[in-house]
Amino acid sequence: MINSLRGMRDFLDNDGALYERVVGVCAKVAQNFGFAFIETPKLEETALFRRSVGESSDIVGKEMYEFSDKGGESICLRPEGTAGVVRAFLQAKLDKAGGIKRWFYHGSMFRYERPQRGRQREFHQFGIECFGISDAREDAAIIILAKRILDELGIKATLKLNSLGNKESMSEFKTKLESYAKGCANELCEDCARRINTNILRILDCKNEKCQALLKDAPSVLDSLDDECKKDFELVQNLLKNAGVEYELDDRLVRGLDYYSKSAFEFVSDEIGAKAAVIGGGRYDGLISELGGKSTPAVGWAMGIERIMEILGAKESAIQRDGIYLCALEPAFIDEIFALGCELRKTHKVEISYEAKAPAKHLGAADKKGAKVFLCLGSDEKAKGEIWYKNLENKSEKHIKISELKGAL
Ligand code: ATP
Ligand code: MG
Repeated sequence: MINSLRGMRDFLDNDGALYERVVGVCAKVAQNFGFAFIETPKLEETALFRRSVGESSDIVGKEMYEFSDKGGESICLRPEGTAGVVRAFLQAKLDKAGGIKRWFYHGSMFRYERPQRGRQREFHQFGIECFGISDAREDAAIIILAKRILDELGIKATLKLNSLGNKESMSEFKTKLESYAKGCANELCEDCARRINTNILRILDCKNEKCQALLKDAPSVLDSLDDECKKDFELVQNLLKNAGVEYELDDRLVRGLDYYSKSAFEFVSDEIGAKAAVIGGGRYDGLISELGGKSTPAVGWAMGIERIMEILGAKESAIQRDGIYLCALEPAFIDEIFALGCELRKTHKVEISYEAKAPAKHLGAADKKGAKVFLCLGSDEKAKGEIWYKNLENKSEKHIKISELKGAL
């Protein structure tokens, strides 16, 4: 027996349907906000992630699926989507062209993490990126977009919002935070002790409860914001309020990646264990020039599809019935229902049974398939040119003339 790799899994039956539904809702809402589909390769040069996600991040430091290909090139399965989309943007010279690009993507991401609830090694993200707009209104727009998706899916999540300021205010804040952290360095966890020298900001991100308690009185990034960053942050908040999107300010929210500035946000849910993030994002005005492009403002977010599916899966215990189960009681009628089914498939979802069975067996199969409508051809029906119709939702039954079937459905 060969099984899937640890932390990687199949989407079967309901999972497949759920995945399609989540991506469908996300894509539709994103399109309404002006975003268009983009697909980038799942494999990229390792250097792309080292330079964009950042050496000091957990992703690059511990979690990358990195290996040499047959030509000795160091390549990497993408751990996140932004880097590839930015690479595509630069490769097409769109930074030089100027203008605005809004893209959405979805697909597999790979991180070598310890598999556990809500954490796989291959997982899927839906994400959006907008290039070329520094206006804080776009930050608000993409947060509203995220909220619309969650609403449409029926998911309750808390929006946590922060501003990381700009380069100057961030460097001032880091100095303050560093001197605070040095004061309690002995008590911080091993990772955080190291982070003081590698990337001080990430101590705020630490999931260790003792570290969080020690950092309770640490300086706030919001106190370092300059006037422009403050103004933008207020604008984002006002637009969210106007749109009826509730949020909590969280000055400890820093996001795991190196290239963020100004807006940073997360939607967290406690429906899948302790406060797990389902969407994370923010502004990353610094990334494109960091990768050698013409400085271009950018903002985006990514959603963990499995975490969303887990929340929905727990809710949707009652499967939504849909489609037709079409069958016959006599072997001689199967070719006729095959032809009828193919015709109906022009407009309906139809499952055709190739086997003649007793009615009870067919009904059981239709129920198991989650069909909404049961259509069956037996000798009596055949003699009258009719078909037996049963609505599996409300259990109503009748006989319909086959010649009138299309209209009746
Ligand atoms: P976390 O703090 O949970 O590790 P992260 O900061 O690493 O999250 P991002 O890089 O912001 O996550 O990715 C965006 C979203 O992708 C997360 O909010 C989460 O929903 C999802 N995600 C991240 N890593 C995994 C994983 N290993 N398995 C499943 N979903 C994941
Ligand atoms: Mg992570």
